[in-house]
Amino acid sequence: MKRNENIVMGIKISNPDKVIFKNPQVTKIDIVKYYEKVAPFMLPFIKNRIVSVIRKPDGYKGDKFFKKHLETKNKGIGLIYLDNDKGNKEDYYYIKTVKGLISEVQMNSYEFHIWGSTIKNLETPDVMVFDLDPDEKLNINAVRMGVKDLKKILDMLNLKSYLKTSGGKGYHVVVKIKEKMNWEEFRKTAKNIALLMEAKWPNKYTSNIRLKNRKNKIFIDWVRNTRSSTSVAPYSIRLRDKCSVSMPIKWSELDKVEPNEVTIEDALKRIKRKNPWEDFFK
Ligand code: ATP
Ligand code: MN
Repeated sequence: MKRNENIVMGIKISNPDKVIFKNPQVTKIDIVKYYEKVAPFMLPFIKNRIVSVIRKPDGYKGDKFFKKHLETKNKGIGLIYLDNDKGNKEDYYYIKTVKGLISEVQMNSYEFHIWGSTIKNLETPDVMVFDLDPDEKLNINAVRMGVKDLKKILDMLNLKSYLKTSGGKGYHVVVKIKEKMNWEEFRKTAKNIALLMEAKWPNKYTSNIRLKNRKNKIFIDWVRNTRSSTSVAPYSIRLRDKCSVSMPIKWSELDKVEPNEVTIEDALKRIKRKNPWEDFFK
């Protein structure tokens, strides 16, 4: 590797050739460069939102761990202290700039999960995420049907929704909430939407998280729309068996794109096309 090739956004990338995914092979520098290139698209969704990351410091052979707290405060990262249940202050952090994002990747954070509110309006969430988790016996077509049924309900409620692959086993349906709501109202709204699904199609969907209620059904996961819960960010890589991305896609692609199909190379091609989430923040 040429000198300077492993300096990205002014940050020196250590162990650039470390293998993070074995087959097909993806190295740490591949991931850094991926995030550098998708940053203009990804940053609006993660910027100034409390983040939890998944780190994998030893690459493909090592363990991964979920991380909510910061130990090194780099440029482009913000810190925030919040009261926990016991009344003690706990620190959380958020990414402010591309540099902050790259500094996280340099520290082996490859997967990014975010809150539904920004730090400026921490108690007024604005991004609602629904996830569909099927009973093991159901196939992907049942999940796709679920996504379509959910969209019908959201359309009926005049809520514009956006679709992304989870990069794992399913799809996420995301709604930008324009109404000012506190977390309790936000959570109840999400719950009521799941309840509507359940009421309309009781054999297909459940709003109950318990596995015993899920026999042959899909759980409409609304619970993540709770204060301090997270969902994987658009454009984030998933640390699963292969290097797939949670990718914004068009509604018309639902039947064509598998949940873990979009790779980092595909994602970089996709960002050159018309952005299916273009008007998300408008
Ligand atoms: P899939 O489509 O494969 O189900 P997903 O993104 O829908 O992927 P998970 O990755 O299982 O689902 O995550 C479920 C929820 O838990 C998400 O809201 C995520 O932000 C959160 N989460 C993931 N890992 C952890 C963890 N280790 N600790 C706490 N919360 C986590
Ligand atoms: Mn899921």
